[in-house]
Amino acid sequence: MVRKATAAKRPAKKPVSKKPPKKVPGKKPARAAVKPVKARANADAAALGGKLKPWTTAEVTEAFRRFQKVSPEPKGELEHVNAFTLLCAVVMSAQATDAGVNRATRPLFATVDTPEKMVALGEDRLREAIKTIGLFRMKAKNVIGLSERLIAEYGGEVPASREALEALPGVGRKTANVVLNMAYGMPTMAVDTHVFRVGNRTGLAPGKNPLEVELGLEKAIPAEFMLHAHHWLILHGRYVCKAQRPLCETCIINDLCRWPGKTVLDGNMAVNR
Ligand code: SF4
Repeated sequence: MVRKATAAKRPAKKPVSKKPPKKVPGKKPARAAVKPVKARANADAAALGGKLKPWTTAEVTEAFRRFQKVSPEPKGELEHVNAFTLLCAVVMSAQATDAGVNRATRPLFATVDTPEKMVALGEDRLREAIKTIGLFRMKAKNVIGLSERLIAEYGGEVPASREALEALPGVGRKTANVVLNMAYGMPTMAVDTHVFRVGNRTGLAPGKNPLEVELGLEKAIPAEFMLHAHHWLILHGRYVCKAQRPLCETCIINDLCRWPGKTVLDGNMAVNR
């Protein structure tokens, strides 16, 4: 016998309250007008083309003063124990997340923390240790190659020079900038995907490629903020000014940002300035 399908019984709908939301005397509630996806995409295209109004020096100073107030000593998220392991971690982080790199390098760097130990470990065992990271074969080859060069040419030390770093296997301008900044305290600006997006989207330093954004940021940011500017912008891009849906509602530079696609707040902003 074929049984008739019966519709599942739905729970009764709750009656919708027609009452207006409670008003807090003297306080206008914040409302966020989020732009549609297409408008945000168009805004990103306009920002990339450098069509936004440039920032004044006073505005740039104000933005970084706010970043500094919220996070006076920002830190990178790649784990390392010295300049050599920092260099290796940055080389391994290309097209991978910091968390994924850390999972593989944490046990590795606990025992292998010098170029000599890395060469002694060998490419096969290094490949095995970092096999969870994308492009691990090429990265293992580069890390062994750069370790050999550091021993042969720099007595096992990591050189504090852009030219010397960029001549090492697997090391490009961005990696050199990270190492010079974090290991040697130089005011360099490493432009990764997050910094590239923030530089363009905000209108702070529009550019068609990472080098243009890097030079634009170096020109725009006052010297007093340059040491930490790279980390402030990376963290801002990673956690607030995200690619798909930036959290403009809680952004501490919302009022300064030039992005035409930003979420406009009507009312009080709950931000820490
Ligand atoms: S307001 Fe903030 S989060 Fe939104 S686009 Fe501008 S910088 Fe990014």
